Amino acid sequence: MYNTLVIIFAKVLNSFANILCRILHKDNGNLLGKIVKKLSPDILKSIKIDCPVIAVTATNGKTTTNNAIRYMLEQNGKKVVSNSEGNNMETGIITTLIKACTLTGKIKADFVTFEVDESYVPVVFKKIPLSTLVVLDFFRDQLDRNGEVESLILKINEFLKTYDGNLVLNNDDPNVARLGRANENNKNVYYFSVDKYKYATEKEVEAGEGKFCPFDKTRLEYEYYQYSHIGKFKCPKCGYGEENLFAEIKDVDLEQRTFKENGITYKTLANNIYTVYNYATVISVAKLYKLDAKEALKTFKLDNGRAENIEVNGCETIINLAKNPTGANVSLRTLNEDPEEKELLFVLNDKAADGHDVSWIWDINFEVKNVTRIVTAGTRAYDMAIRIKTSGFDADKIEPYLDLKEAVQALYRTKTKKYVIANYTALQPTRKEIFQLGTVLKWKNFRFRTVPNRKNFRKRTVPNWKRRYWMKELKLLYLYPDMLELYGDYGNIQVLKYRLEKRGINLIIDKYSICDNAPDFASYDIVFAGGGADNEQSILSKDLIKYKDSIKDAVEKGVFFLLICGAYQLFGKYYKGVEGNIIPGLEVFDYYTVAEPDRKKRCIGNIVLSVDLNKFKNKSQTNNGVNKSFENNNEENSNLEKSIKAETNKFETEVIGFENHGGQTFDIESPFGKVLYGNGNKFGDTEEGYFKQNVIATYLHGPLLAKNPEISDYIISYCLERKYNEKIEIEKLGDSFEEKCREQLLEKFLKEKM
Ligand SMILES: [Zn+2]
Repeated sequence: MYNTLVIIFAKVLNSFANILCRILHKDNGNLLGKIVKKLSPDILKSIKIDCPVIAVTATNGKTTTNNAIRYMLEQNGKKVVSNSEGNNMETGIITTLIKACTLTGKIKADFVTFEVDESYVPVVFKKIPLSTLVVLDFFRDQLDRNGEVESLILKINEFLKTYDGNLVLNNDDPNVARLGRANENNKNVYYFSVDKYKYATEKEVEAGEGKFCPFDKTRLEYEYYQYSHIGKFKCPKCGYGEENLFAEIKDVDLEQRTFKENGITYKTLANNIYTVYNYATVISVAKLYKLDAKEALKTFKLDNGRAENIEVNGCETIINLAKNPTGANVSLRTLNEDPEEKELLFVLNDKAADGHDVSWIWDINFEVKNVTRIVTAGTRAYDMAIRIKTSGFDADKIEPYLDLKEAVQALYRTKTKKYVIANYTALQPTRKEIFQLGTVLKWKNFRFRTVPNRKNFRKRTVPNWKRRYWMKELKLLYLYPDMLELYGDYGNIQVLKYRLEKRGINLIIDKYSICDNAPDFASYDIVFAGGGADNEQSILSKDLIKYKDSIKDAVEKGVFFLLICGAYQLFGKYYKGVEGNIIPGLEVFDYYTVAEPDRKKRCIGNIVLSVDLNKFKNKSQTNNGVNKSFENNNEENSNLEKSIKAETNKFETEVIGFENHGGQTFDIESPFGKVLYGNGNKFGDTEEGYFKQNVIATYLHGPLLAKNPEISDYIISYCLERKYNEKIEIEKLGDSFEEKCREQLLEKFLKEKM
C-alpha cells in the first residue's frame, strides 16, 4: 500500500518536474529515482512487469547496444520501455520505470530493455525479474572509482550462480565468456563471436585485461586480437575458449559496412569493429526471440556522441566518447583506418564522474595517421598535450586550451575533417559547443574516400647538436610488462625514451615476464617495474623471488631502479595481506607493507611531494667508483661542488602524481619526498616513497615522470654518468606543456589544501 502511494506521488511529481524542465530547458536525469529510492528503497519490487526484461552490461558500448536492441524490437513492431538516455544505475532504472508505469505500478509493454552499470547488475536484478542478460566486454575503467576489473567480474559471477535465464556472452572476451560457467545448471547460455577482421593483429597492441585463464591461471594463447584483449583465445591447459557459438559474425567489411551471420548479409551504418560487436548482440537477441535484425541494423543510426557523424559548417565531424584506454583506442583505430587527412580534438576532464586519475591516457596506443593538428581541452588539457607529444607527434602542432569554447573555435579554424574524442563529463559540453558553433547537419552518406598516402609525414631530422651523443645509448629492463601495467605506468618508459631520443640518445628496451629466460640485471642501466592488480601481483611475486640475489647485486652495482606502487612493495621485506597472510618480498630494502584491513579504505587521490634531488649529489662524486673522473680532477671537482651548493635549492622540486594504494608502508629510512598534499606511505603520512641515489620507489602513478621532467632528467643524468664515467651536461628540452601543466595543477591542489 505504501509503495502504491509512493508510485502515485512520484508520477505526480514527475509531471510537475517535466513542466519545470521544459520551462528551464533542463533534463531532470535520474533525480526522480533518487527521491523515490529515498522514500522506498525497495520500490523496484512493487513494479509489475509481465513482459521479457533484457539487460545489457559492459564496460564499453552499453548505450549503443541497448539502443540498438530497443530499435530492433521497435522495428519488429514491439512496444518497448527502455532507459535509452544512459541512466544506468539503480536510480536511473527506477526513473525509467516510474515514468512508464501506470498508477498501479504496471508496465504495459512487449519488452523492457535496460543498459545496466556493471556493478549494479546484482543490485537491480535482485528486485526485478530478468529474462536475458547480455554481457559484452570488461575493460579497465576509472580504477579509482570502480576498483579492479576482477572484483567487478566476481560480483556478477556470484549473481549468475543462481540465475537460469538467457545469458548472451561475448566468446571473444575471456573475462566475459567465463561467466557461462557460473551456473553449470543453466542451459540457456548463448555465445557470440566475430571472425577475424582486416585490422586484427597477431600481437596485442593495446593494454588489455584477459591474460590468464580464469580457471587455472595458465597464460592464454591468442590466434589474433581484434582490439585490446578481444580476439580468438584459448587456454592451452584446459581448452577454455572453445564454446559452441550461437551467433557467428563473418566477412566483416568496414569499407562496405557489411558482414554476414548464418548466410545472411547485414548492411549497417557502422564503420568500426567495436560497433560490429554491439550488433552481434542485437542479432543474438533477435535470434532468441525469433525476430528480424536485418532491416533494423540497416537504418540504426549512431548518435549522441557514440560514433556520431555530423557536418558542422560544411566540415565533416565524427564525435566519440572515450572514458577508458579501450574506448580511446577504438576511436583512434577508426581515425587511422580512415585514409583522409584530419584534425583531432581530445577533451579530457578529471571530475568525480570521470575518475580523478588521468593516468589511463598513457595506456592509449597513441599512433595517429594523417593527422595534421591536435587540439586538446578539458580540465586536463595539458596532461593530454604531454601525452600526445611524448608519442612522437610534433609538439608544434598540438594546441592545448583549458577553455572548451576556445578549443572548439580553434578546431574549426580550418576546413579539414574533424575527429572529436571526449571523456565522460566532457562529451555533452563538447557537443554543445560544437552544435552552437554553426549549422549542424546529420551526416548521411558518409563514406571513406581514398586519398594518396602522404609519406614521410612524421619524419624528423636530428639537429646537429645532438650528434655528439649519437654513439650513446642506455639499456632498460622492463619487468612483467604484461602484468604490472595497471595505471599507465608504462608511460614512465615512454617519457624516458622521448627525453633520451630528443637528445639523440637511444634507449633499448628489453622485456622480461614469466617463462622468459633469466635476465642479467647488472647488465642494464635502468630496471623498471610498475603496479598491477592483486591477482597478477601474487602470481609474479613467486617468479620474481628467484632473482633476489642478482637483483640485490645489481642495486649494489648502481643500476638505476624505478619501482612504482606494487613493485615498490615487492622490493621490501614483506607484504602482509588483509587476512594476515605474508607475501615475502625481495628484501632488497628494509621497509615492509601492511594492507589496510578495510578494503574500502585506500589512499586515493592527487598527491604533491617536495623532493630534494640533490640529496645524493655530493656523495656521488666520491663513492662507488661513480664519476671517478671528478676525483682525478680536484680543481674541477671543487668548482662543481661550489656551483652545486649554490644551486641546492634549485634541486628541491615539487613532484605531482596520483596515489591509489591500500598498503601502508613502514620503516622507511630514506623517503622519496615530503608530502605537501595527499597521503604518502600511510594515511596522512608526512613522507612518501623510498629514495636512494640509484633507486626511486614510490606509490606515484600519473605516470610519475609525465609531469615531472626534473625527475626524468635526474635518472637520465645519473645513468649516463655512471655508464660513460664522465660529467654529462644534458640539454634542456622545450617543456612548455609540462611547465603549464605543473603550474595549473600545483595551484589547484595546493589551494585545495588551504
Ligand atoms: Zn585453463
